[in-house]
Amino acid sequence: MSTAAHECLFCKIVAGELPANRLYEDDELLAFRDISPKAPFHGLIIPKIHIATLNDLVPSHAALAGRMFLVAKELANEHELPGYRVVVNTNSEGGQVVFHIHMHVLGGRQMTAGLG
Ligand code: 5GP
Ligand code: ZN
Repeated sequence: MSTAAHECLFCKIVAGELPANRLYEDDELLAFRDISPKAPFHGLIIPKIHIATLNDLVPSHAALAGRMFLVAKELANEHELPGYRVVVNTNSEGGQVVFHIHMHVLGGRQMTAGLG
């Protein structure tokens, strides 16, 4: 399922049309706290451009996608997380609800081993 950028929740956060607790911002990326945190630290890292899912990434996005990991590392360092988990839910079958690609960064508690 695709969402047009003009009706996308996360595009509205990028545009400042909806509030968010911002954690990091640069020209290409934005990070903010998840509104319904699943761990003491739960950040979302998104590209400012509308990319619906991981399946919509193309080679020209490679640096952008790679930098999302660098922001995850910086957030973990800044928030003194000794360990953390990054997750990119993809498509509804993968648990994706918001169709603007995002990387979850979860930490601040013991994450269970494995993914079960
Ligand atoms: P998904 O299931 O698509 O991977 O994750 C979407 C995430 O976005 C969920 O964890 C949900 O709590 C979060 N979320 C949904 N709406 C908002 C919102 O308006 N603001 C913020 N900060 N997070 C949101
Ligand atoms: Zn969007």
